[in-house]
Amino acid sequence: MSSGTDSEYAKYWIDWFLETKGNEYFCEVDEDYILDRFNLTGLSQEVQQYYSEALDMITDNLDEDTLSDKAREHIEKAARHLYGLIHARFVITTRGLTKMLDKYKKGDFGRCPRVLCNVQPLLPVGLSDVPLTKTVKLYCPRCEDIYNPKSSRHASIDGAYFGTSFPHMLFQVHPSYMPTKSFDRYEPRIFGFKIHDIAEQHRWQDRAREEFQNKLKEEDDKSKGNSAGRQQQQPRLVTTTSSQKVEGK
Ligand SMILES: [Zn+2]
Repeated sequence: MSSGTDSEYAKYWIDWFLETKGNEYFCEVDEDYILDRFNLTGLSQEVQQYYSEALDMITDNLDEDTLSDKAREHIEKAARHLYGLIHARFVITTRGLTKMLDKYKKGDFGRCPRVLCNVQPLLPVGLSDVPLTKTVKLYCPRCEDIYNPKSSRHASIDGAYFGTSFPHMLFQVHPSYMPTKSFDRYEPRIFGFKIHDIAEQHRWQDRAREEFQNKLKEEDDKSKGNSAGRQQQQPRLVTTTSSQKVEGK
């Protein structure tokens, strides 16, 4: 623990971690949560090297003066990984959900890039609960889709530090924060026409052209067979079936 007599540069490790650029998605895990060994069950398997030193570093109980720079570097790497793993467990507790909800309300995780979602705040989500498999993604509760974080620092964070259940758990516990679903759909248009309308127009044009060609052929055949025959003075659209009937005569 830092005491009042420490220099002003001495800082709590967690404060330092949270203030480091790129760590904005993380919330502060309560110290008593970390100190309860029951909550850390199994994590020594995940952080095999320097587990106890990493835990001491996170809780400011490590005497760093006796360490070489190299050892300190290794322990710090292990501490960051361990904090992430503890974080994944903490954010789905009542206390953790409340802390993350505050960050969500402030828009700390960014906002949905989809125009029709109207700057809906996002929540971090993992695509796997196994560490070192997938980086963190951002979940939009309005369009129910996931997005890559904009900044490369955020995009490289392990998704397992948030987990696959976290955002869904948050809305289970705090349903009033669930936004209304977005049913608005963007409609592709070319010069103001919806694309499927244009396709329909093209089909109509093809049909009309075919009918016109059949009609011309019919008139041509007629004039060859009977030059005096001028029964059909009025131009009329002829369907394929009626032109076949005429040809059969
Ligand atoms: Zn969205």
